[in-house]
Amino acid sequence: MTPRVAIIGAGPCGLSQLQAFEQARLKGADIPEIVCFEKQADWGGLWNYTWRTGLDEYGEPVHGSMYRYLWSNGPKECLEFADYTFDEHFQRPIPSFPPREVLYDYITGRAKKNHLRRYIRFSTVVRQVEFTEGQFRVRVKDLVADQERVETFDFVVVATGHFSIPNLPKFEGIEQFPGRVLHSHDFREAREFAGKDLLVVGSSYSAEDIALQTYKYGAKSVTISYRTAPMGFKWPEGIEEVPLLTKLEGKVAHFQDGSSKKVDAIVFCVGYQHNFPFVEDSLRLKTKNRLYPGSLYKGIFWMSNPKLMYLGMQDQFYTFSMFDVQAWYARDVMLGRIALPSYEEMAADIAHWQAREESLANPFEQIDFQKDYIVDLADQVDYPSCDWELTTELFKVWEHDKEQSILGYRDKVFRSPCTGTEATVHHTPWIEAMDDSLASFLGN
Ligand SMILES: Cc1cc2nc3c(=O)[nH]c(=O)nc-3n(C[C@H](O)[C@H](O)[C@H](O)COP(=O)(O)OP(=O)(O)OC[C@H]3O[C@@H](n4cnc5c(N)ncnc54)[C@H](O)[C@@H]3O)c2cc1C
Repeated sequence: MTPRVAIIGAGPCGLSQLQAFEQARLKGADIPEIVCFEKQADWGGLWNYTWRTGLDEYGEPVHGSMYRYLWSNGPKECLEFADYTFDEHFQRPIPSFPPREVLYDYITGRAKKNHLRRYIRFSTVVRQVEFTEGQFRVRVKDLVADQERVETFDFVVVATGHFSIPNLPKFEGIEQFPGRVLHSHDFREAREFAGKDLLVVGSSYSAEDIALQTYKYGAKSVTISYRTAPMGFKWPEGIEEVPLLTKLEGKVAHFQDGSSKKVDAIVFCVGYQHNFPFVEDSLRLKTKNRLYPGSLYKGIFWMSNPKLMYLGMQDQFYTFSMFDVQAWYARDVMLGRIALPSYEEMAADIAHWQAREESLANPFEQIDFQKDYIVDLADQVDYPSCDWELTTELFKVWEHDKEQSILGYRDKVFRSPCTGTEATVHHTPWIEAMDDSLASFLGN
């Protein structure tokens, strides 16, 4: 019997998995029967923007965490698909830091070219995955038909992302705060905070970007509160970093160094949980956001039952190209082209990577670590060649650019590691570019 593969999620990771199988099929391989379940009505995952927050029209938690005016925070050259370049999609060079709509167009462009839609059941949420009698029982609900059913599969690939279920902080006085309080998951429109004094709690990518966004779209001031260390960028006047929020008294926020600031609104950028309530407990990945999550051999295979795979569960410098390499590797294991070692060998391999991860001293070493992880996988599959060394160099230049100018780093241009094409300079500096539409970006 033809084996069956369930892919859960049609975001970038799920689409990479479909693409990997489709490429094998086009080269003549017998591929399994594939069903991709996607709870949203369309593909693209986080890149499929929604204005909604809270629950969707079916009462399901809204997946989207992206907001209007979101521009790529890393150079597009570092995430380029080696089998579908930016040159192929746009038919001309474009700038290095595209807005969300442009990247969405790119991701879905490859999926359209390869007719991947036919594998996907949209508006279908996976409710439960359990393993019994050598097979996975997957309970799904067709949200439109309002019908549940159970199907069996030989392999399951979890590609549901890990930036959707917010961490919930507690701070004294938060319940009485007389203004808007939200998690970055629910942040959509920076103009809402124009003219206001905003407090952003957090010190990672979301805090950095939401502070910049709200500044760009007219916030009166942005105060960023960090837990352990400040991000330390050369912030423009109007943005400052302060130590941890200790309590709120009315509109006044108090910080660990004894300082205080009156604020009108608070955005908590305190991260997300790896949350897979639909996976039975013994198969459920439980990890914090890190470069090498435990229990996953090669960062993919659930050690105690490697027919269950997780894609994209790492903390991410690399994104789309890393997801591709993972998907190619997972595919080759499912096709029997790559054999997995014993449980003990898998455990030892994970321990080896995690020990190295623990020793990383700075973002430059973290970038090298993730590159080495990717190369380890890429060397064993037929993913088209890509100059991974160059991508790490680009990432390091990017880190340096951010230190030089947090407002100007998105105006830089990079050279593609896939095609050698040099990006063009955008017609408007990022800080002045208020229109994030694809048409405006391409200058049409
Ligand atoms: C605010 C924000 C900004 C970001 N900016 C960038 C950036 O500039 N550049 C970059 O490269 N990366 C960025 N990222 C990282 C982002 O994680 C990746 O680009 C990418 O979207 C991850 O893909 P994924 O497929 O793993 O997950 P997702 O994109 O989250 O897709 C997961 C899919 O699974 C579906 N799903 C979830 N649960 C179920 C279920 N039970 N049943 C069926 N379907 C389900 C969801 O609906 C979704 O479509 C950003 C992330 C966030 C949150």
